[in-house]
This record gives sequence, structure tokens and C-alpha cells, in this order.
Amino acid sequence: MLSPLLPLVGKRAAELLAAQLEIHTVGDLVRHYPRRYVDRGKLTDIAGLEIGEHATLVAQVEKTTLRDMRARRGKLLSVVIRDEKGATLDCTFFNGHKVQHVIHPGVRAVFSGKVGVFNKKLQLTHPQFEPLDEADEIRPFLSVYPATGKINSQEIARCVRQVLDLLDDPTDPLPASLRQREGLAELGRALRRIHVPESEADFHAARNRLVWDEAMGVQLALALRRQATVSRPAAACPPKPGGLLDAFDAALPFTLTAGQHAVGAEIAADLAREHPMNRLVQGDVGAGKTVIALRAMLQVVDGGRQAALLAPTEVLAAQHARSLRTLLGPLGRSGELGGADQATAVTLLTGSLGTKARRQALLDAQSGAAGIVVGTHALIQDHVGFADLGLVVVDEQHRFGVEQRDALRGRGELAPHMLVMTATPIPRTVAMTVYGDLEVSALRELPGGRSPIATTVVPLAEKPTWLQRVWRRVHEEVAAGHQVYIVCPRVGGDNGKGDPDADLVDLDDPDEGADSDDGAARRPPLAVLEVAPRLEEGALHGLRIGILHGKLPPDEKDTVMRAFERGELDVLVATTVIEVGVDVPNATGMVILDADRFGLSQLHQLRGRVGRGSAAGVCLLVTEAPEASTARERLDAIAGTTDGFELARLDLELRREGDVLGALQSGRRSGLRLLSLLRHEEIIAKARVYAADIVAEDPGLRGRPGLAALVGETVGDEERAAYLDKV
Ligand code: ADP
Ligand code: MG
Repeated sequence: MLSPLLPLVGKRAAELLAAQLEIHTVGDLVRHYPRRYVDRGKLTDIAGLEIGEHATLVAQVEKTTLRDMRARRGKLLSVVIRDEKGATLDCTFFNGHKVQHVIHPGVRAVFSGKVGVFNKKLQLTHPQFEPLDEADEIRPFLSVYPATGKINSQEIARCVRQVLDLLDDPTDPLPASLRQREGLAELGRALRRIHVPESEADFHAARNRLVWDEAMGVQLALALRRQATVSRPAAACPPKPGGLLDAFDAALPFTLTAGQHAVGAEIAADLAREHPMNRLVQGDVGAGKTVIALRAMLQVVDGGRQAALLAPTEVLAAQHARSLRTLLGPLGRSGELGGADQATAVTLLTGSLGTKARRQALLDAQSGAAGIVVGTHALIQDHVGFADLGLVVVDEQHRFGVEQRDALRGRGELAPHMLVMTATPIPRTVAMTVYGDLEVSALRELPGGRSPIATTVVPLAEKPTWLQRVWRRVHEEVAAGHQVYIVCPRVGGDNGKGDPDADLVDLDDPDEGADSDDGAARRPPLAVLEVAPRLEEGALHGLRIGILHGKLPPDEKDTVMRAFERGELDVLVATTVIEVGVDVPNATGMVILDADRFGLSQLHQLRGRVGRGSAAGVCLLVTEAPEASTARERLDAIAGTTDGFELARLDLELRREGDVLGALQSGRRSGLRLLSLLRHEEIIAKARVYAADIVAEDPGLRGRPGLAALVGETVGDEERAAYLDKV
């Protein structure tokens, strides 16, 4: 599979394949699968075409005419094609210049496109076309390949056939036992059949087998990655009866939910082992992850070691430190007046501390005086010295990749245990792939006493006057003693970035934005720095308004957050800096402006900031997106469910899957062509089990060079080497 294409294909073809499609080896070429197939049994006759249908037909080019376009620059190619039964049809191509070299009289090709009418005659406008050669004519299916302007599908098909004809079947990397149990075709046969299927069943069987290759490649890589991390030695911290954790549990003002108990037990068992824990806890916003993390940290402190909690921003770090201290009470005030005997200390260590405070914090981490150190992710990257770091808790994983996790684990003799927490629910297949090197625990229930959040879409396109109702609602919430967030997609103040003020919607005059139908798409997203002053002088006059965004200096952010927490502000106009972790139980309302500019998961996270206390929360999604647009569908989905797992699945469907799987592979061309997180859940789950067994039995894959190669094809040779050479 690694042999070069020359001399199996011609020199010119080999050069084009390499330059245009990065196809260098036999393996690259035979894994360049058809994009689709044309079933010759399902071709349409020209005589039977109907307006509006999507038709695929085989015909011969009879006549071509190149003309100038009237309204635009460029040339139009008008083509008359004739099918086997003698009927003719007009086709028009807009890029006449380019296609005239391929489409000339006598050429037979597959044409496909939507049937329209022009000058009272049926025609195909700018159809897709694939020229045919003689070999194609006798096959039941025509394979259509991803191609470029310089090398077309037909030429690729010819190269593939040449290679398949000359090549012996490759050695099959999948163990025969696995193939047999899963009823999988042999690799050689599958490769031939995916390129040249004889029947639909053929093609399905071939594809199923090749999907398995990719699933096994991914799962073996992950199994190796898991092995590389968990085989390192770590300090065991078994629960200590009568210790800090026990004292904490005894003083806890609420009872843990069943989920918190179960996940807590899994973590407690992990921490007791002599190999590092490597666990992801996912639970919706408000599910109570902080308590879980704190209990894990206390078990480690009981074991005589330190714990670090890392948050994505300084605001959140500061807030975490405060809420940990509150939860701990006297148990967190070691050395202070009123501290309990066995107390530990929580130290906040961030870049914005004054020099003196920072020096003290560093000292506390280094001496071990601080049992718990809270900071941003920079904490570890800055090589802060710990006396004995036993556990790293990372909050809000979704901003965090594999490399960062590796960096956190450090290079010391003993690896710290690692607990990752995310509020973004993760669909099962994503958990098994992107996070597949971690053990995953889920908190599916929320603690009792949480209030429901009512989410409503405010569609300015049809109901421009509703914006006034939005501001009235804000006034009502404040009058009732509550507080409100107003979220904008942008900070603003970035002059010269092409966002003239004139383009902004006037918030007091809803008509202005709603009228500009296509202008709305080009308007820059609303910005905190522009919205806040307008509201202050206009619709929300008289309320105490604060602003919060990422460009504020850290201490100012902290000041604003504290003022809001203490109820000294009624309204906080903010960017998504409030997306994660911010916890103000008295905030009951959230208005998200330009809501269509946010992702599904992001919106779900944002609204989780309200209804954290006993009063019901309301979230208003303000949008100018027109009715029946995809943007509106997404917003309706958010309004329709509060089930984060359901939304996560929707998000996956809406996002390009490749982006998700791409996280497995740092920047290289994807080795994954067929595997789908939506369609192949069962295969992925089974492959995970096979891979774990194989790696347990043969950790270096020494007896299985084919599988080792498969790992390389999937995640790149560099990463493969990183796992396999360590063993
Ligand atoms: P998350 O980090 O998962 O979004 P938090 O840990 O911040 O959620 O918990 C949200 C709120 O619920 C906090 O005020 C916390 O003290 C409280 N809480 C956590 N667990 C429980 C429980 N079992 N019963 C009642 N309240 C709880
Ligand atoms: Mg949290």
C-alpha cells in the first residue's frame, strides 16, 4: 500500500494526483473512494423529464455554442445533448470558457441537475457532468470521484482500475476472527468493490468493511493513548476515614443527588489507584459538578497532596476560589482565626494579583501551605511549583484539547490524577472518539430546587415591536428585585473593522433593523460597547447597568462581577465571558441579542446562567433571522428543549462532523473518509471493545504490523510513533 504510483499509472497522471489531490501512494489512491455512484438502471430518458425534477441522464454532446453573457462578464456555453432514444435537450454552462475544452461534440457524459424551463423549452442549467469512456459503458454503476479542474473523475477512475488490476490483494490488517464475527469482507475485495461495484449490496458491504478500518484505526489510537497515560505511576490517595472529606460531607447543607454519589464513588476509586485517574465528568449547567470536584480535591488533600483547579478565565478562577471557600467554611480556613483543626487553605493564583499577593500565593503553592490552588490554565504552563501536586481539575473542557491535557500531566516522576469537567453534554459517539482517551462519567439529573427556564424566540423579522416588550420585561424583572443579563456577540470598539455605527440596529426603534432584509445578513453583530450606552440612555434608562467583556483588565472584570453578585447592578451587558461558571442566583432574566450568531451549545450554556436560584428564569432569544431559516430552526430547537444531550446531538448534526473528528488529528489531512459520528455509533462502540482487547494483549502492536499501519493512516505516523515507540 505504500508503494509509489509510478509506474502503475502514467507519469502525467501520477504528477497530477500528487499535486492536486495529495495522492502519492497506492494506498492513497485506493483509499480515494468515489463520492457517489450513478446507477445506470436509474437513468432518465430526456423524453420523460419533468420540470423541477432532479435528473441524471447519459447523453452525447451534439452541438456547442459559446456566447458572451449579457449582464455579466464571462462566456456562456449552450449545449445540445442527445440521448440513445434520439431526444434532445438544451444545457447551459455559465463558465463557458472552462468547460468548452471538455464538452465538445461527440463526447458522451453523465449529466445531472435540476430540470428548468427557458424560452419555453426544458433545459438543464449548469448541470454536473462526468465524461464517460468505453470501459464505463459496460458497468452497472459509474463511480464519480472527488476531482479537480486539472484531473477529472474519469481519469481518476482509470488510474484506480489500472492499480487494482495490477495489484495483488493487500494483506488484511483486521484479525480474521474479528472479520468473521462481524461478517466483514476481506480488504482486497472491499477495495475492489467500493471502486467498481456490481450491485448495490456489493457497495454497501464494501463500505461497511472500510468503515470498520477507520473505526479500528481511531479506537486503537485511543486505546494506545489511554495506555500511555494510565500506565504512568501516580500517587495513590485512598479515602481517609475521619479526614477532611468526611468532615466536609458531614457539614454539607444539602444531600448529594444519586448521580453525584455514583460519580463521586467512581472518582474515589480512581484516586485510590497507583496510576493516574483520567476522567471526564459531564453534566449540564447547574448539575453540581463543583461539589464533585471539591470532594475529589479533599480526598487528595487527605492523602497529603495538593490539588489544582483550573478555569478558562480569571473571572471564573476568582469565582471558583470564592465558592470553594464558601462551601468549605471553617474547613477552608487553615491558619486563620476560626479555622477548623484539620482545615486546608484555598489559594487563588492569577496573573492579575499584585506582586506581593502573587509572591505569597506562589510561596503557598510551593510550601504546600495551600492544599487547593485555583487559577487559570496558565497556572501549569507557567511552571508554578507545587510541593506535591496530586490532582488537576480542569473546568470547562470544551476549550481544551488533547495537547493541553498532555501538557498538564507534566513530566514529573509521578503523574497527577486528572479530572476534567464539562457542561457541554457530549453525544455518545463523540465521547467515544474525541474524548475517547478519557473515562467518561455523566451527571444526568439536576439537584432539586432548581427553577425551570422558559426560553422564547423573539423574531424581529416578523414581530419588530416585540423588542419593546423585551425591554419592558427587563424592567419587570428588576422591579421584582431580580437581575438580568444582556448578551451581545461582540465587544465592539474595534474601529476600522468595517462596522460603521450606521449599520447597527437602533435598539429603540425596532423597525429600522427589521426592514433591511438582506442588509441584516451583512450587519456586524451587535456589540457590548455600543448596545450598553444606548440602553442606558434609552430603553433601560434608570437601571443600574454594568458591562463585562474579555477586553476589560482582569481586576475591572472582577470588580464588575462582584458588584453584580452583590446586587449593586441590575443589568449586566456582556459577551460570552459569562458563558461558563458564573453563578448569581438572583439573576433571573437573560436577553441574547443576535441570538442566531451563537452556536447551539453556546446558547444552552448561556441560558444556564439564569434560574439558578428559586425564582423562575426567562431567556429571550432576539433575532432578525427570517422565518423558516436554518438559523430560526436552531433557535426553535433551543426554545423547545432544555435537555442538553438532545441539543448536543442536534449540534453535531448541524456542525460539520469533520470538524469534530478533526480534533483527533492535529492539522493533518484526515485519514477518515467514511466514518460518521451520526451513522456509525454501533460500529464505533464495538471497535472500541476490540481495540482495548488487542492493546491489552499486545501493547506495542508488534505482532500486528497491519494494525499499527492502520493507526498511522488514521492519526498520522507521528502520533502513531509517539505511542508505539514508548512501549
Ligand atoms: P455546575 O458547576 O455543574 O454548573 P454547580 O456545582 O455550580 O453546578 O452547582 C450549582 C448550584 O447547585 C450550586 O449553588 C451548588 O451549591 C448547588 N448544589 C450542588 N449540588 C447540590 C445538591 N445535591 N443539592 C442541592 N444543591 C446543590
Ligand atoms: Mg461549574
